[in-house]
Amino acid sequence: MDVSVLVSWKTKFTPVSWTLDYCPFCDQNEAIRIEQATEVVAVWGIPVSKTDEGKFGRCDFCERQMNVPQEMKNVDLERWNPKDGLSTLAKILGVEESVEIPERNTENSVNSMLAAVKHETSINTIDLTFGLSTGAILGGLIAFPLAALLYVPEFPDTDEGKFNFVFSVGLIGIAVGAILGGVWHAILKRGKLAKAKIGGVLNRYPLDSELVLKLSEKFGGVVQKSVLELRNTIRRK
Ligand SMILES: [Zn+2]
Repeated sequence: MDVSVLVSWKTKFTPVSWTLDYCPFCDQNEAIRIEQATEVVAVWGIPVSKTDEGKFGRCDFCERQMNVPQEMKNVDLERWNPKDGLSTLAKILGVEESVEIPERNTENSVNSMLAAVKHETSINTIDLTFGLSTGAILGGLIAFPLAALLYVPEFPDTDEGKFNFVFSVGLIGIAVGAILGGVWHAILKRGKLAKAKIGGVLNRYPLDSELVLKLSEKFGGVVQKSVLELRNTIRRK
């Protein structure tokens, strides 16, 4: 069984402040969240160690990570909200003269956002630890007692024979449980994650609904499905 079910290494990003900088993925200036990165080692989901890994920037629009210079001017999280607009952020930062404020809704930035969502919701990227471990535990909880119950003693009836039978069936139960749990989790989580991510952006930024719908077509899958489901909430321009 995958060791990640038991022990997991994860980097947790906690937003600490805002800045305004060029996002190479959106190809324009965007609000950048400065995030504190902490590596968390957990055993069965319980954190056992935390290591400071420094600060990173994340484009608030496309959610992609980038390096930000340490000396970059920034303001506390609560001082600005994406709904206030980028020009307000530029004013708070005192850079309204020097930073170009982009026109929203470029094809490039929407494509970048949708591509990031597609990447983050791919089977290889999403974390299935919860589904795998829950499935494994449930599989074991069902298979061990069931095997003990169904065991038919053969001649000669030995404790060893019973132990081997229950142990083998129990392991199969754990493996099957982990697979089913992982698949169930993947199906559920991909759609939910995509919808939450796209929904979050649509909520924070005024977007042209027709443009988002049109661009989502080429991404297909959960990305397109989420945009279709969210279409009614997209603010019309
Ligand atoms: Zn971006």
